[in-house]
Amino acid sequence: MTSLIEMKNPLVELDGDEMTRVLWQMIKETLLIPYLHLQTDYYDLGLANREKTADRVTLEAAEAVKIHKVGVKCATITPNAERVKEYGLREMYKSPNGTIRAILDGTVFRQPILVQNIKPLVKTWSKPIIIARHAYGDIYKDVEQRIEGAGKVELVFTAANGQVSKEVIHNFVGSGVVLGMHNLDQSISSFARACFRYALAQKRDLWFATKDTISKKYDHTFKDIFAQIFAEEYQEKFARAGLKYFYTLIDDAVARLMRSDGGMILACKNYDGDVLSDLVASAFGSLAMMTSVLVSPQGEYLYEAAHGTVQRHYYRYLKGEKTSTNPVATIFAWSGALKKRGEFDQLPQLVSFARSLEKATIETVEAGYLTKDLAAIAETAVPEIVNTERFLVEIKSRLEELLA
Ligand code: NAP
Ligand code: MG
Repeated sequence: MTSLIEMKNPLVELDGDEMTRVLWQMIKETLLIPYLHLQTDYYDLGLANREKTADRVTLEAAEAVKIHKVGVKCATITPNAERVKEYGLREMYKSPNGTIRAILDGTVFRQPILVQNIKPLVKTWSKPIIIARHAYGDIYKDVEQRIEGAGKVELVFTAANGQVSKEVIHNFVGSGVVLGMHNLDQSISSFARACFRYALAQKRDLWFATKDTISKKYDHTFKDIFAQIFAEEYQEKFARAGLKYFYTLIDDAVARLMRSDGGMILACKNYDGDVLSDLVASAFGSLAMMTSVLVSPQGEYLYEAAHGTVQRHYYRYLKGEKTSTNPVATIFAWSGALKKRGEFDQLPQLVSFARSLEKATIETVEAGYLTKDLAAIAETAVPEIVNTERFLVEIKSRLEELLA
């Protein structure tokens, strides 16, 4: 064995829960530690430790990402009533991803991993489509009411100086519903900058879409903020890189997407991003082949798999069964973070290792070694359905060939 690849600065490592916590350890032991002098700043976000630290560990991990700029995160349980009982929690801690996103003020970019033997449902999609979802406000922070009978609903703004302005939303004659929602120029600006920056880093065109023809103030504000930040800060950089920024209506964007060959980043408002990221993920194959990266406006990066902790597999694992859980997205979270670390620290060897790891993983799937979820969707002449351990060993043997 040749010498280990060195790192200059650590990655922030955020460990997690259940089956993905098991995968995490297997990936490190099989595919990373034998080849890398792995340096991490480790935070255990497993639910037991979140309970022990009253969730302080999540805050500390997010602060560490600010310091070191690059992190990699394992899937974590977002507690609900059942989990509170299962883990004997003192409180129903918030979603770690929500907490981290709020601290880093980041935008999430989701990208499918493409392999030749899994064909996207849209035949023309030969390149990945990346969905950037604004993660603040709109209906996710709304106030809603049911109106049970006749009456007037108004929108009232009381300024800090006491001045009041009012607008009638609707004069109800019968029952119905009403909602109020908001967004902030600052949050929309951060979202815009994260998108422009990521498009430049990825060398991809950026599309942004809202419904500003109907929503003449709300959605129009999004459009205007994007346009202004682009003109003032990014237009020249895009021109130099030969990239395009393109704004259109959300319905037009969807129609164009279906006819495209992919390769772009589509930035979406919160709800549009919620819907389109699941649509794109399922059209490309599987949640287990979808990566996700949180990018802050300051250029901090946190990589993870888009799926959860795969709870059902974990309970089988606890009974001693070998499971066929797909580690691909978690491997790509590591390779994404190592690549970014290598770029920041100017370590071409580290970047090249991360690329080889990705290549070895894709080649393993393309050679027909498949976890159960992939076997259901792959077009492979003689597939071999393998458990996670065997799958990792197959990746390892290809990785060693690539590194030799
Ligand atoms: P999930 O963990 O994504 O799993 C849902 C189902 O999808 C699994 O039961 C499995 O189907 C399939 N699946 C997902 N990832 C897979 C993989 N890598 N390999 C093979 N199959 C895979 O979602 P969930 O069951 O709704 O959530 C479980 C926990 O994860 C929850 O506590 C939730 O809070 C948490 N979660 C965390 C994150 C995050 O940290 N980013 C995201 C989402 C959910 P089969 O069982 O049919 O094989
Ligand atoms: Mg969703």
